[in-house]
Amino acid sequence: MSGGSRRYVDRATETMSPAELARLQLARLNEFLDRGVWGNEWFAPRLGARREIRSLEQWRELPTMTKRDVMADIAEHGPYGRRATAEPADVRQVVETSGTSGQGRERYPVTGHDLDLIQQMEMPGFAWAGAGPGSVVLSSLPVTTRAGGQWYQDAVRRLGAVWLSVGTYPAEEKLRYLREIGADILVASPSYLMRLEIVAAAEGVRPADLGVRAIMTAGEPFSVAWAREREAVWDARLHEQYGSTQRAIAWSCEEGAVHGDGLGVLHVLPHLAVYEVIDPATGEEVGEGEHGELVITPFGSTAAPLVRFASGDRVVKVGAGDCPCGRPYPGLRCGRIDRYDAMTKIRGVNVVPSAADALLLQHPVTDYQARVYSDERTGREELEIVVAAVGGPPDAGTLAVLADRFRQEFGLRATFVAHEGPTLVADVAVDAKKRKRWTDERAPMRRGAPV
Ligand SMILES: [Zn+2]
Repeated sequence: MSGGSRRYVDRATETMSPAELARLQLARLNEFLDRGVWGNEWFAPRLGARREIRSLEQWRELPTMTKRDVMADIAEHGPYGRRATAEPADVRQVVETSGTSGQGRERYPVTGHDLDLIQQMEMPGFAWAGAGPGSVVLSSLPVTTRAGGQWYQDAVRRLGAVWLSVGTYPAEEKLRYLREIGADILVASPSYLMRLEIVAAAEGVRPADLGVRAIMTAGEPFSVAWAREREAVWDARLHEQYGSTQRAIAWSCEEGAVHGDGLGVLHVLPHLAVYEVIDPATGEEVGEGEHGELVITPFGSTAAPLVRFASGDRVVKVGAGDCPCGRPYPGLRCGRIDRYDAMTKIRGVNVVPSAADALLLQHPVTDYQARVYSDERTGREELEIVVAAVGGPPDAGTLAVLADRFRQEFGLRATFVAHEGPTLVADVAVDAKKRKRWTDERAPMRRGAPV
């Protein structure tokens, strides 16, 4: 795609020099701090007295906060915590995270000011994927009290596109919408995209005939091979979003989630938040191409501020010049967002699921499911990996190659087993639960314990 056909949504910022963008970011950061952070009784003992932030080096001296801090604040001062200082009349929206059983819900009020900035964070990726007046976005993501669906919907409508809110309908019904009304952009997680392909095949429908031009995916790691296969099946470009309720948001541009034979760039938006990629061991910003924890300070969080929120998301940092689009925005590597708590320790070896994905999800392998368990007889930790491939179950030779590759990469022996069907995706009805390729069946106390 040539420079002239860029789909700018904020031309002034998207064509700025990196130096101008850095100045704008610092100015907006100080505005945000003045608006809701300095003088906030929850932050005062943590951050100290008001001062102007003059550099990101100075910024990194401030402490980080975590989900645990937010949950404790909400538990003590419900429903939004002591951090929340917005007047009730200014609140326009409330979002909650899914939460796990037994714990409370992480919850944020959002003012009109915040909502405007959040929409500015949510619009770019949809615009870059082609959303605008005259286009239709069909979302398999349900709109609930969670942030994701609401913010996608707000952004798509603000761009002037039609939002087909079919997230709560069965896959067959979603396909009916695709056949009868059609959509330019299809929003689906990697797992749910596979689910739609299976249902389409059962109905004798070729996804490529549905007229979808772009797929917007999010929430699970994937490989180049997987992405290219989806693009061929749907005859559409695959785009990716990275997003969280805490407003760590990034998008692939017109170039899509895969560039050539490599994974593309999720552009961050430095004029709307401070994105840091921090080495959890040292607290220092990592270099380009290195992985670390995403730490976010979104300017659209004045109602209940988030300052240096350590996300627990493991990301790979990418420099601003890495993408051919020429935007000044640096980014994160597409398909490589993972949770630190998704890391599995087997026989003393750490395995990051996305690293295993990168290794295993190559032609002819389409999918796999890994299971860690303790052998009842030997007490030894075992790893079994069930593999699906194009054209039927993989043969013994393919399984042997995979086992060898896996052992070389991770220093771990695993039992590779052929799966009979084309995909291992469970029969999920609604696109709201993230699929885990790795399951751990060891007793909780033994997980990660040296054997
Ligand atoms: Zn780009």
